[in-house]
Amino acid sequence: MANQIYIGVDLGGTNIKVGICDEHGTLLHTYEGPTGADEGAEAVLGRIAQYVRKIVEDSKFEWDQVAGIGAGLAGFMDIPEGFVKLSPNLGWHNVPAKKILEEKLGKTVTIDNDANVAALGEAWSGAGKGIPNLVCYTLGTGVGGGIIINGHIYQGSGGMAGELGHMSIVPDIEAINCGCGQIGCLETVSSATGIVRMANDAVERGEHTSLALLEKIAAKDVFDAAKSGDEVALRIVHRAALYLGKSMAAVSVVLNPGRYIIGGGVSKAGEVLFAPLREAYMKYTPEQAREGVDIVPATLGNDAGIVGAAGLNLRHR
Ligand code: ZN
Repeated sequence: MANQIYIGVDLGGTNIKVGICDEHGTLLHTYEGPTGADEGAEAVLGRIAQYVRKIVEDSKFEWDQVAGIGAGLAGFMDIPEGFVKLSPNLGWHNVPAKKILEEKLGKTVTIDNDANVAALGEAWSGAGKGIPNLVCYTLGTGVGGGIIINGHIYQGSGGMAGELGHMSIVPDIEAINCGCGQIGCLETVSSATGIVRMANDAVERGEHTSLALLEKIAAKDVFDAAKSGDEVALRIVHRAALYLGKSMAAVSVVLNPGRYIIGGGVSKAGEVLFAPLREAYMKYTPEQAREGVDIVPATLGNDAGIVGAAGLNLRHR
């Protein structure tokens, strides 16, 4: 029998990316098309089915070789049922996505949230290859997370495991409100949004920093300023790294993963972020829990979502 292939779908608010992976998680083909989210869930799911059929037709593979299809998207869902309860960026409420896609495609479809899927992608063929237990942080607009235990995504009892950005870790005296309704969440300081907010606050307070010269501050500007020795920018980056490292210290005594993988836009900052992050992690983690544990950047970049989604199907073999 010919080799099986695995199809991954990265369903974003603007574009749908589809990829074909082999059994090792190597991405062989990709295809990208518009989501058209404003046309509603049924139209979007129809488009996914169309793109999936197209990528297989355009490849050297046969439809019979498709072992399964996985999709990752941002939202809250009943993962075993593949039922999307709420996806704000797609405008979805209570969409039985798995059922509809399986009817359209005649294949097993597995759906999971984008941060879990990215973690699985990195675990399968990215920065976590060969490491059975790992935890992945995605630092972007928010802080996403995914936990991989024995090579599988750990969902928790209600699908909320891995919501690392909402660890309430900043002391109340310096905490601000988070979009989740809690205060002091990691995401309020260690996301791109949090870093920009801290920079704007410093400028508003009239602190002496090169960031004050910018019309609009992006997280990258803060990292660049920190690299040039700007003390205010360095303090902000160190604060983001401190709470990230402290959260990893907490995770280490709960799960004792073998590796932490940092993905998302902020992870491109390099050593200016990673050096103080490792320092904070070492400082707050008991020696036995951090032995042999490393903190590394993700390697699949934007492909982690497609690869991980394709990998979702291997769980069911
Ligand atoms: Zn929160």
